[in-house]
Amino acid sequence: MRILIVEDEHQLARNIQKYLLLDKYAVDVAFDGEEGLNKAMTNDYDCMVLDLNLPKLDGVELCKELRKEKKNMPIIMLTARSGSQSIITGLDAGADDYLTKPFDLSELSARIRAIVRRKSENRSPLLSSKNVKVDTNSQQVYKGEVKVSLAPKEYVLLEYLLRNKDRAITRPNLISHVWGAQEDQLMFSQTLDVHIAYLRKKLGKDLITTVPGCGYMITDNKDV
Ligand code: CA
Repeated sequence: MRILIVEDEHQLARNIQKYLLLDKYAVDVAFDGEEGLNKAMTNDYDCMVLDLNLPKLDGVELCKELRKEKKNMPIIMLTARSGSQSIITGLDAGADDYLTKPFDLSELSARIRAIVRRKSENRSPLLSSKNVKVDTNSQQVYKGEVKVSLAPKEYVLLEYLLRNKDRAITRPNLISHVWGAQEDQLMFSQTLDVHIAYLRKKLGKDLITTVPGCGYMITDNKDV
C-alpha cells in the first residue's frame, strides 16, 4: 500500500511517515498543497492523509481539484481547526474521513486500514487464497494452521496481491505500491522477482501465478 502525506508541519509529517513505514506502507510526503496535488496527480496512491490548513493550496481546494480530475483515492483529512464547520467543508469537498489534531498515530493507521478495506471489493480484514490466510490487522500470515514469518516487503506484496485477487497486476503497479518507487524500475524489477520467489518458497509455489508480459496475480481459479 502506498500512502501520500500532505502536511506542512515537518515534524508531524515525519512522525506520521516513520509510523506508517513501520506499519510497512510505502510513504511519500509533500509539505505544501501544490506539491501534494502534483504528487497525487502523477502517482497512484492507496490513501492520502491531507492536512486542511496548508500553504500554497488549501487542503479543501486540493481535495476538490482531485475529485474534479476523477482521482478517487481515499482521503483522510487532518484538521487542527476547532468546531465542525471545517470538517463539514472537508467532507463536502470529497474527503472520506477526518482526524482532529492531536491524534494517536495508531488511530490514523487503523483508519487507513478501514478506509482501504471499504474501497476494495473484499471488506474483511481477513484475506485468503488456497490454504494461505492473512490477518491484515495483526499482519499475521498462516499457511494452514502454521504461522509463517515474512519480511516486511514480502508481507506488503502478498497483501496487495490478495487485496486485488483475480486481477493481474502489472510489474510497475506492484513496484509502485510495494516500494513506492517510480524510478529505477529495472532494479526493483529484480527485487520484485526475488520477493515473489521467497513468497512461493514460504507459502507454496502455486499461490502466485505469473502472468506473462504483465506481472503477477493470485487467484483461486484453478484453470489459470
Ligand atoms: Ca497545517
